[in-house]
Amino acid sequence: MNVGPRVLVVEDEVKLAALLCEYLRAAGYEPRVAEDGPSALQSVAAEPPAAVLLDLNLPGLDGMEVCRRIRRDSAVPILMLTARADEIDRILGLEIGADDYLCKPYSPREVVARVRALLRRSQGRMTGVAAAPGPELGGFAVDDAGQRAWWRGRVLPLTPIEWRLLRTLMQQPGRVYSRAQLLDAIHADFRDVSDRAVDSHVKNLRRKLQAAVPGGDCIASVYGVGYRLDLPADEGSATSGL
Ligand code: CA
Repeated sequence: MNVGPRVLVVEDEVKLAALLCEYLRAAGYEPRVAEDGPSALQSVAAEPPAAVLLDLNLPGLDGMEVCRRIRRDSAVPILMLTARADEIDRILGLEIGADDYLCKPYSPREVVARVRALLRRSQGRMTGVAAAPGPELGGFAVDDAGQRAWWRGRVLPLTPIEWRLLRTLMQQPGRVYSRAQLLDAIHADFRDVSDRAVDSHVKNLRRKLQAAVPGGDCIASVYGVGYRLDLPADEGSATSGL
C-alpha cells in the first residue's frame, strides 16, 4: 500500500482535528494528531512529518512556542492556524518562522490546498545529502527550481525566507545590502514586517551555515547598514565530494 506524505495536525479541539484528518486522508496524506505542544514536539522528533498544521491556541505550550522550538532543528513547512489576525506578522517573521498561515474560520479544503502548496515549495529542500546540481559560487551550490542550497557540499535545511535571503546576498558577494533591501527581497509575497525580522532570519541562516560547515558562517554584518556575503577569493567552485 502506498502511504502518502505524513502531515502532523496539532489541534486540541478533537472534532476539528478529526475533520482536518478526514480531508487530508481523502487528499492522499497520512495525518497524525497531537493534542498539545509537548506531544507535537515529540511527534516531530520521533516521526518527522512532511508538513505541520499548527493551531496557535493550544493549552499549555502555545502554538508560537511550539513553532519556535520545531524551527530550532527542522525546516519542515509549518502552516499556522490562527484566530488572531494581529499575530500574523509575528508568526511569519522574527523568531517564530512559520511558512504560511490561515485565519479561522477556514475551510478544510483550503487547508489541504495550502498544505499541497507548501509541500510543492519544499520538495527536496528538506534534508538528505544529495549531489548538488546547478550553478556554483564560492562553495555554494544552488538548485533554483527546487529551492535547495548546499554549502561546501553540505545541504542547508533552509526555510523559504532563508532561501530568498541567501539567494539575494549571493547576487553580489561583497556588496552590502541594507536591511530594507533584504526585507524587500525576502518578504515580496508577505505583508510588512520590521527590520528586526531581517536580523532574526540572518541569525538563523548563519546558524545553519555554521552547522553545515564549522567556521563556515560567511555572512558579515556591517554595523548600522546591513549584511554582506563574504566569499574567499580562492574558494573557487570547490565542494567536497559528497
Ligand atoms: Ca485550539
